[in-house]
Amino acid sequence: MFSWLTKPLQEYNRMREMNRLPHAILLCAPEGVGAGVLAREFARSFLCLAGKDENCNCHSCSMLKNNSHPDLTVVDRGNSQSIGVDAMRQGINSLVGTPTNGHGRVLLINQANCMTVQASNALLKTLEEPAGNTLIVLTTENIRSILPTIISRSMRVQVNIPDISEFNEFLKQQTSSDRDFSVELYVSGMSPLKVLDWIDNRYDEHLHACLELFESVMRGDGDIRKLASELEALSREDSSMLYGLMYAVIKDVMGYQSGISPENLKILRDKEALGNLASIHPDSLSEAARKVIMLKGAGVGPTGIKNSIIGILQLLNWLELLRGY
Ligand SMILES: [Zn+2]
Repeated sequence: MFSWLTKPLQEYNRMREMNRLPHAILLCAPEGVGAGVLAREFARSFLCLAGKDENCNCHSCSMLKNNSHPDLTVVDRGNSQSIGVDAMRQGINSLVGTPTNGHGRVLLINQANCMTVQASNALLKTLEEPAGNTLIVLTTENIRSILPTIISRSMRVQVNIPDISEFNEFLKQQTSSDRDFSVELYVSGMSPLKVLDWIDNRYDEHLHACLELFESVMRGDGDIRKLASELEALSREDSSMLYGLMYAVIKDVMGYQSGISPENLKILRDKEALGNLASIHPDSLSEAARKVIMLKGAGVGPTGIKNSIIGILQLLNWLELLRGY
């Protein structure tokens, strides 16, 4: 189990040992910190026949490891934008009846914030009259999108983001290296699992190359069009890398303008580039920030040549804003 998840897991285990588990748990965690892993561990522990930890090999835990546990049902949005009422009804129906394994049934709802209103209402009925010996685990990155009536009928478990050094330590261990992953972590919005995925695909090298090119353009000795096409290539690898980079850049320039010294900034280090960026009018800076949000929105939907051209034009426009044109 990831070190930053041990605290909520201990909390859960304490309640289980006291036989005080609720019928529903709402697991709130930012993206990419492993909420799904923790939710599955809740389910495993609830269904375990031996009452042991994650290394247990009882019949139930073995089935769970093989993704073939008949008493665990997972509902998620899959390839669609939302979790609809039909998928939800199926999930709810799986809680009814005698459990195959004699240890209750679990329904896992991933990204519960994607439930449609009808799906939420169907779930609410079940939460109002829960069946015995069942556990519903909902995970969400955004609690504001969950019906208040669902929140009030669930036990809320919050995963907090630890200090960046803990994530850095984790990534060093996972990659058996002594590198510093702060840039990747800031760009990912503090998501160590996303960073791990980037490293697996070697996207992190491209990210660093883009950052260097960006600084050289902002110093005045780099090719802005080359930068725009490199950034566009970065967004094709993982669009969240591009938007994360743009956010981090703007935040750093704002921080520098308010007096933070370069060594304490998140990703920008080049003093000459920073000096030039600091002369940007705060209005242009907020306009550039607005542009990032717009670009992020444009990234959703069908991709293709048209989108990529629009993307690159907007990128050029964004970069030129930053250069103070
Ligand atoms: Zn077990």
